[in-house]
Amino acid sequence: MGNGVMFQFFEWELPNDGSLWKNLADKAQSLAEKGVSAVWIPPAYKGMSSDDVGYGVYDLFDLGEFDQKGTVRTKYGTKEELMRAAVALHEAGIAIYADAVLNHKGGADYTETFEVIKVDPDNREDELGEAYEIEGWTGFNFPGRTDREASNFEWHWYHFTGVDFDNKTGERAIFRIVGENKGWSQDVSQEFGNYDYLMHADIDHNVPEVREELISWGRWYIDQLNLDGFRMDALKHFSAEFMQEFATAMRANRDREFYFVGEYWDGDYGLTAHYLDETNYELDLFDVKLHFNFEEASKRGEEYDLRLIFDDTIVQKSPMQAVTFVDNHDSQPGQSLESTVQNWFKESAYALILLRKDGYPCIFYGDYYGTGDGSILSHKEKIDKLLLLRRWYAKGEQYDYFDSAEVIGWIRMGAGEDVSPMIVVLTTQGSDQQLNVEVGKELAGTSFADFLGNNLTKVTIDEEGWGNFPVTAGSVSCYLVDGLPLDDVKVDAVDVEAIEIDPDEPLIEQDPTVKDDVSLAQNKDTN
Ligand code: CA
Repeated sequence: MGNGVMFQFFEWELPNDGSLWKNLADKAQSLAEKGVSAVWIPPAYKGMSSDDVGYGVYDLFDLGEFDQKGTVRTKYGTKEELMRAAVALHEAGIAIYADAVLNHKGGADYTETFEVIKVDPDNREDELGEAYEIEGWTGFNFPGRTDREASNFEWHWYHFTGVDFDNKTGERAIFRIVGENKGWSQDVSQEFGNYDYLMHADIDHNVPEVREELISWGRWYIDQLNLDGFRMDALKHFSAEFMQEFATAMRANRDREFYFVGEYWDGDYGLTAHYLDETNYELDLFDVKLHFNFEEASKRGEEYDLRLIFDDTIVQKSPMQAVTFVDNHDSQPGQSLESTVQNWFKESAYALILLRKDGYPCIFYGDYYGTGDGSILSHKEKIDKLLLLRRWYAKGEQYDYFDSAEVIGWIRMGAGEDVSPMIVVLTTQGSDQQLNVEVGKELAGTSFADFLGNNLTKVTIDEEGWGNFPVTAGSVSCYLVDGLPLDDVKVDAVDVEAIEIDPDEPLIEQDPTVKDDVSLAQNKDTN
């Protein structure tokens, strides 16, 4: 199976009604039919309140099972509903990647008194004065967790590196905790001098019992849901060495591949490459620079030079390690890393991640269904068409035509002689364009049409094997041989199985021997 697709099944503005796991279970089969091969689920453990999106982790061992923080369920439902969703996904053949937030904990049960040194928020290596005592929220004993079989661990101040609140004085600052062998981790981002501290009580991964506890939790969580991978949160902010130890431990003694993708939120490829090297290529990274390029292209409109769209991206420089995406829960409007790709460019951006050879693409719930606050519209119909194209036509050799600032495109030659080549052409908001592409002399005289319906011109291949493919300003077109059965089928109603076995339509037969795309969820080669 090739052409894997990941789906991020949440966005920030979902209602706090405990319905996500049920919704996911209901949709598992249809997602699989559309070509989704893995789902990234949000942090599923108890946060600081029932409407916590999941990143304010209180108890990693409470998957919506215990009455803690005023609620049994999480924002997304109960543990039982989560487990049912996991079973439904696996029955549909979809892999499950769980979000792992190992940088910090919030919502402590009680305060403790300990010594700190206040640091400069703009340079955390700079100490502001002498050590003194504060009262910080660092005591976690989970009084509401009535079953301690999975873990007896209680957290104390010496398991953390820093906090941002002194309960004694009400002061907010970055307080580095002082103690034997204590200090910021050194193998973290060097932004702000040292970016170990992000929020809440910052976990100290240099403490052996902390490492053991987190590794033990990872194994427990994998077993609870039969997980296929982890999406690692906030990699800039905790020890790269621990990340590698964690990945190695999760993969040890497993009889199948276990996948890792991480969030290293930085558009600088040099830093990304350094991190990949530091963690021995144990994990893939979200292609943040590509997302930034999409955002810039969408905001600059006709001023943008499309030849730069892949410049300095992970998918360009380390394609085996790239998870490509358009937007996510942090980049959507109103969120901490807001950098949203504008609506007009979404279809083009999804074509750029779904129809090319390189990269493991991830579809964002907010782009697919729209966001709860209405800031992002649903692009479901368009993404469904692109998924169909990915499944059937994003195959074989790829030749790029990236010579003009205004219009770029590429051709996928198809797998086997029976499959139509696919020509993708996209442009800025400036003006209508066309792109001259070599399709092959054997198709001379053949007519091509845009499957996406954004340009209604039919293109006939000339006797030299070339076609001049038009694209409407501010859009993308995907040309296939005209008259393929798919092009007048309503995408929602497509019965993929029926298409696959129809002997009268050889043009869309799939060659099962061709596995040209390495970005595959379960079978991904991690070397
Ligand atoms: Ca940290």
